Formats: sequence, C-alpha cells, structure tokens
Amino acid sequence: MMGHRTLSREVMELHNQLLIADGHCDTILELIKTKRRLASPSIKGHVDLERLKKGNVRIQFFAAFIETIYKPYNSLGRVLELIDRFFQEVDLCREHISPGLTIRKIKKDLDMGKIIAVLGIEGGEALNGSTAVLRMLYRLGVRFIGLTWNQRNQLADGVGERFTGGGLTSFGIEVIKEMNELGMIIDLAHISEQGFWDVLKRSNAPVMVSHTNCYKLCNHPRNLTDKQIKALAMHDGIMGLSFVPEFLGSGNPGLEEFMNHLDHVAGLVGTEVIAIGSDFDGIDKTARQLTDCRCYPLITEKLMDRGYTKREIQGIMGENMLRFMKKILK
Ligand SMILES: [Zn+2]
Repeated sequence: MMGHRTLSREVMELHNQLLIADGHCDTILELIKTKRRLASPSIKGHVDLERLKKGNVRIQFFAAFIETIYKPYNSLGRVLELIDRFFQEVDLCREHISPGLTIRKIKKDLDMGKIIAVLGIEGGEALNGSTAVLRMLYRLGVRFIGLTWNQRNQLADGVGERFTGGGLTSFGIEVIKEMNELGMIIDLAHISEQGFWDVLKRSNAPVMVSHTNCYKLCNHPRNLTDKQIKALAMHDGIMGLSFVPEFLGSGNPGLEEFMNHLDHVAGLVGTEVIAIGSDFDGIDKTARQLTDCRCYPLITEKLMDRGYTKREIQGIMGENMLRFMKKILK
C-alpha cells in the first residue's frame, strides 16, 4: 500500500508530470459484482475515480470480461450489459472521466485534465460470428477487442488450447481485416502462440498484448517468449506489463519482480514497446506493493533508481501507449 513511506520530492515532481496509461483492468465486472460505483470512494477492488486520481492515471482501458457461464451463446447479451454499465459509470463521473472514442476528442479531453476511459471486450465470442456485430460494437464505443480469452472461440484458439497448435480461423482473419479498417485495437493477451503469429502476419496495423510478462523470467503460458517480444516490437506493437503474481514469478512476487520483467524487455528490444497493463480487478491476489491503482508512483521511483531516462520513463508510464493509440484509432 502507498502512504507508509513518503516518496522524495524529486520522484513526485516527475510523477506528477507523467501521462499514465493502464492497458487493462476488469473493473466493469467488479463494479457489477460488488454493487459499487466508480464515482464512489471504496476500499473494495483496485480501481475507482478517487484512486485513479491519486495514482495520476490519465488513460485507463476497461475490458468487458465475459464469464464462462455466458459462453458461447449468451456472450453478446452479457457484453451489452457490461457496456451499459461502463457508460452508466462514466456518465456519473462525466466531469472527470470521458470515454476514449476518437483521437481528436481524446487529445482535447486530456488537455482538459480528464481521465480517458477506453472501452473494450475480452473475448471475441461476443461477435457472435458476425462482422456486422463487430461494426455495431464499434458504434457502441468499443475500441479494443481481445480476440480470445483462454478458450477456443470462433476467431482463434486461446492460450488454454495451445496444445492443438491452432491459430486464427477464417472468421478470425475476416475480423482482423475489419478491425484494421475500423481503426480498432487488436489485443492478443490470451491468444495461443500460433494465433499470435497468424495475427502478426495478417494485420496491417500494429497490435497490443495488453496484460502479459516475460516467459524467460517466468514460464507461464500467458507470458511472451523473447521471440514474440522481438516480433511485437518489430511490428510497432505495444506490450502491457502486468501485475499478475502468477506471471511475475513464484513465491510472493512484487514490485522488484515486476521491474525485472521490465528490465528484460528493455534489454531485449528497448523501451518503446513497453506499457503497463495492470489487470486490476481481474486478479484475486495482488503482487506486493502493486495493490491498487495508487501504486504507480512506486514504479516511477524504481524506474529512476534503475537509471531510466526521463524520456524513457514518460514512454513506459503512458506516452508509448498514447502513441500506439494514435496509430490505430481514428
Ligand atoms: Zn485477462
């Protein structure tokens, strides 16, 4: 938790100038489950308006996560409920939070000091096998889609099915093409490795892996191999490093281990591919020190300790993500 120790003035001075972006949280579902409001300060969960402000978060991706009981046939209906809840919450905070729909509006809202809430879906089941549904979801404000969760769906095999060697389906290829045209962010966080390579080959826009870490440091199937990280960087993609304990390492990992993953990517391909993808409200147990969205100043401090330049820190903490968004969104 923050607050046990005061950070130096030097750290806070830099931190307060940063544009901080988080590429993944499952807060919409958490708000439904706990019947709380984004606008109301809470001790439950990991993300609310007050804590976003305390952490100086300026761009927050909100994924609509579809629970397994709704899959596959009720996925679209469930996603509509989650989207409805997203807009209810954002409306209640409209003075402070604005949905991220177009780059022009995002820039304007950032200049006004607002937090940008980017809406997306975690699981292509919601498309119901139809690109018409994809286009309608775009009209409803959806700007990123995780093609799969861990299971296989109509688009591709998820990482839980990786032993099949399966990747994108024909429908998945159609979806990639349509998302490229619409200007939607393709998220490969939960896809099988073959799916990852298929999308990199097929997409004519860079892609995001929103919440993952390094397989080299922790051999969890959700983490990216060095080969994948290099390919992602080469295609101008973005890698949101997550706070998920199981992806960070064994035992009781925390900020130090998170930083080791970050150093590994930086050493491999440089810092421009690096972003943050916390997975807040998608995890039951948090990593040490990375316990809710007030934790970001601690990362700023560590980046300074480990000798990253001001420019690199700005990039890692959010500018890289914003630059990526500018390449994709209209
Ligand atoms: Zn996830």
